[in-house]
Amino acid sequence: FAPWEDPDEKPLIRFENVTKKFGDFVAIDNLTLDIYTREFFALLGPSGCGKTTMMRMLAGFEAPTSGKIELGGQNIVPVPPNKRAVNMMFQSYALFPHLSVWENIAFGLRREKMEKDKLAARVEQMLKLTRLERFAQRKPHQISGGQRQRVALARSLAKAPRLLLLDEPLGALDAKLREATQFELMDIQEKTGTTFVIVTHDQEEAMTVASRIAVMDEGQIIQVATPDRIYETPNSVYVADFIGSVNIIEGRATPMEEGQVRVDWAEGQPPLFATTTQPFDAGQTCFLAIRPEKVTITAERPEAADNAVQGKIHDIAYLGNISTYHVQLANGTIIKAQSANTRRIARRSFTWEDPVWLSWTATAGVLLAR
Ligand code: ATP
Repeated sequence: FAPWEDPDEKPLIRFENVTKKFGDFVAIDNLTLDIYTREFFALLGPSGCGKTTMMRMLAGFEAPTSGKIELGGQNIVPVPPNKRAVNMMFQSYALFPHLSVWENIAFGLRREKMEKDKLAARVEQMLKLTRLERFAQRKPHQISGGQRQRVALARSLAKAPRLLLLDEPLGALDAKLREATQFELMDIQEKTGTTFVIVTHDQEEAMTVASRIAVMDEGQIIQVATPDRIYETPNSVYVADFIGSVNIIEGRATPMEEGQVRVDWAEGQPPLFATTTQPFDAGQTCFLAIRPEKVTITAERPEAADNAVQGKIHDIAYLGNISTYHVQLANGTIIKAQSANTRRIARRSFTWEDPVWLSWTATAGVLLAR
């Protein structure tokens, strides 16, 4: 059982009907959410959807207008930030430039008046955890960006919070270092057993690190699920479109046998078929979401395919490991198909204006009502 599937497991954090207003503006709209111990939980959504407001309410910098926020079963709304077992790591890291790495990590512990030997042991433990032992005596400007990020992490974890909030923690790092650091972050999270909640604009980052992702829009959570479920079975066009690349084909549903639905979608185009567990009414507007990598592109008409449409190559994006083809159908619709370049000359297998067939199985897409 994953903790969120276990009925006996109590959540570490519970938002219950939380609303946060700034004047008349509703930033968080009657939101309910459980986050469990040891989770690496990601909040994802467009700018202004309320991610930072959620973090600030957890940290105690903002109070909800109504609703409850619990940590370990206790209402934390009246508890001031410094009395919560919660720490927040900011994107800017906010390290003290005049203090050494060692002293930066020790800072919060000193304020707590931790006993000297215990403090030293704790700092050493944090240095080891973040592989910074060699840099202990350096100042922040004498280490790299990735190392500064690790100091900030070590400092945030030094007081052993039950919950660590990470606001765009890797935003300042370049792509390569960012990827390496994501794995490091997961490793450290696992070793400490601390619950992490991360806000990131980078959906790939959320997919990589998170145990579960909440996709938000306008102060509400649209879907909460594991990364693979969010990707494979989005609950809405909004989520399908927000995560990764997707084709959305709008049509009218006709339910058939065994969970099959026929989708009539364009004059002169063959109907499409999709398997679904959701009920659809005859004539209901529906949206077929199909990922580009699930669409097979061939020169010849496929012999047996649930779905096959014909078009011409309109655009090609060669990305090394994969190529994305934009194929234009006779009615003007563009469908994206992706293929893995496992062979060396795959790049040249199709070129502009080539007539091609696109095909996919009825189970490859997700049929959505909105
Ligand atoms: P971003 O990804 O751009 O950081 P976000 O999802 O973190 O966005 P929030 O910072 O939580 O968004 O803001 C949510 C909404 O609440 C925004 O429309 C913002 O303008 C508004 N808001 C946030 N703080 C305040 C405030 N102190 N006063 C008034 N409005 C605010």
